[in-house]
Amino acid sequence: MNQQNHEWLKDHIRDIPDFPKEGVVFKDITPLLADKKAFAYTIDAIAHHYDRDEIDKVLGIEARGFIVAAPLAYRFTAGLIPVRKKGKLPWEVEAEMYELEYGHDHLELHKDAIEPGERILIVDDVLATGGTAQATARLTERCGGKVAGIATIMELSFLGGKGKLEGYDFFSLVTY
Ligand code: AMP
Repeated sequence: MNQQNHEWLKDHIRDIPDFPKEGVVFKDITPLLADKKAFAYTIDAIAHHYDRDEIDKVLGIEARGFIVAAPLAYRFTAGLIPVRKKGKLPWEVEAEMYELEYGHDHLELHKDAIEPGERILIVDDVLATGGTAQATARLTERCGGKVAGIATIMELSFLGGKGKLEGYDFFSLVTY
């Protein structure tokens, strides 16, 4: 599997101009999720990039990250951790504020979600400005985890998000 082979996935990613606000082109993955070949391929291609013995837990970022993280965790026989928006998790949390392409928000992680030294794969659908992934990597480390990698279906390279992830192993299937 190489970068070239994944390009066909773009046929299943829909552009929604001016959503959720004017000037943003929202990358809608629901057509990809609804297509049995594209969805299975997406999970397999991300899983293929990692050695399953090097991942202890997969961490999914609310909300579309959950959809990708869960089948990956199953594939790796790894645990699954949700990172959620402010106020959604019921137990004690660590929190980080982060910048979005369209605003800012808070992310939270249960304090006891990660055992010291566990190797964590962070997963989301889109890397845009990189603020979300960066905040999640910080939360992971604050909770004692080691970031084994950060993976997304796509990267919006014109927003320069990878610059915020220096020192981390970042992987995506397609680039815009
Ligand atoms: P960022 O922190 O800017 O990298 O934003 C990444 C997060 O926001 C991810 O959780 C994405 O789901 C979401 N996101 C940001 N920009 C877009 C976009 N253009 N289309 C779809 N999702 C986006």
